[in-house]
Amino acid sequence: MKVYISVDMEGISGIANMEDVRPGSPRYERGRKLMEEEINAIVEHLIEKGVESITVNDAHAFADNLRIENLHPHVQLISGYPKTLYMMEGISPDYDIVFFVGYHASAGRTHGFLDHTYSSMVIHEIFLNGQRLNEAYINGLVAAYYDVPVGLISGDDVLYEESKHLFPETEFVVTKVSLTRNSAILRHPRRVYRDYRSAIDRIIKKEIKPLSIPDRLEFELVVRDTLMADRLEVAPFVERMDGYRVRFSASNPIEALKMLRTIISVAR
Ligand SMILES: [Zn+2]
Repeated sequence: MKVYISVDMEGISGIANMEDVRPGSPRYERGRKLMEEEINAIVEHLIEKGVESITVNDAHAFADNLRIENLHPHVQLISGYPKTLYMMEGISPDYDIVFFVGYHASAGRTHGFLDHTYSSMVIHEIFLNGQRLNEAYINGLVAAYYDVPVGLISGDDVLYEESKHLFPETEFVVTKVSLTRNSAILRHPRRVYRDYRSAIDRIIKKEIKPLSIPDRLEFELVVRDTLMADRLEVAPFVERMDGYRVRFSASNPIEALKMLRTIISVAR
């Protein structure tokens, strides 16, 4: 069995505020250590269960948070920036299952802990086919494009509430109860690791199907300021709707993710 793990930081257990996830801040070293420990807890259990191959993709900020020397020797690590598919770089039909670890709620979701979607700097809100979009869902569609199911998602309870209907077969691990964008009731990491172990035991026993990809992928995006929308008019696939709002559509999830990444680069 081959497992692909995309790791973000906001939803890691013990991460308590913005300073824990911001490279350069005094609290950041603590945050990345928690991230490494959580990954190791998951990897150790996967190995116990007989998983042969585990790829970890660092998917937070500039994707150089995890240090290979601090990870279990069984993993290969995708590290560094830029990478074309960013949070899903390296995904392929070779994998049997993907995990999304340390994820968070979509931009604009009330009381979502450190809520954002792909770029806090550019994206105020984003909708796919009329539904508020989070990173787990677009990344899950990218995995589905390669016929790979999402086995596990972890993060705060608001992420769970907004995602459970989209991933009916996926196991969730709730790492914290979100109070506001910058505060949460933290569950102890060791209890969270125990939940990962039980979730993995259930995943191994069940058959999980990849997400079904909608026929149309129509995005509506509200950017942070009108100058960003002005800049985006240069992209031939982008249609300006009003001061802050643009739309675009993609024929498949890979194209969609590449368009989104282009939009973020151009708008900045
Ligand atoms: Zn994120």
